[in-house]
Amino acid sequence: MSSSEPSIFSKIVTREVPATIVAEDDRVIAFEDIAPAAPVHVLVVPKTEQYRDVTELAAGDPELLAHVVATARRIADERSGGQFRLVFNTGEAAGQTVFHVHAHVLAGDLHEGNLL
Ligand code: 5GP
Repeated sequence: MSSSEPSIFSKIVTREVPATIVAEDDRVIAFEDIAPAAPVHVLVVPKTEQYRDVTELAAGDPELLAHVVATARRIADERSGGQFRLVFNTGEAAGQTVFHVHAHVLAGDLHEGNLL
């Protein structure tokens, strides 16, 4: 993040902004997307906001990226029999609106209309 203002997701981590949290540990938090695009739509977010997008996270902390993916898998195991779509919008033109890296875990009735 270039701004000093915490991201909306950091405010969820600190409970300044409410969210329906479905998983949390020392490195990541996962919560229901406020505007779900599929029956299961959970965001998995590293607690640090130092990485804007998945390319920065992959370069800077690949182990943390692997942990994000493993968390997504665990949520999908619980919610959708382990089948899921993992989306990292990267850049404004690709639909990214929050520049604190996050994975969309989508599952359920997936079709082209909820590609994000
Ligand atoms: P992006 O467009 O950056 O890939 O995804 C951002 C996602 O964050 C969107 O799907 C949007 O609905 C979700 N979102 C934005 N603000 C909030 C919020 O305050 N709470 C929750 N739970 N989700 C949010």
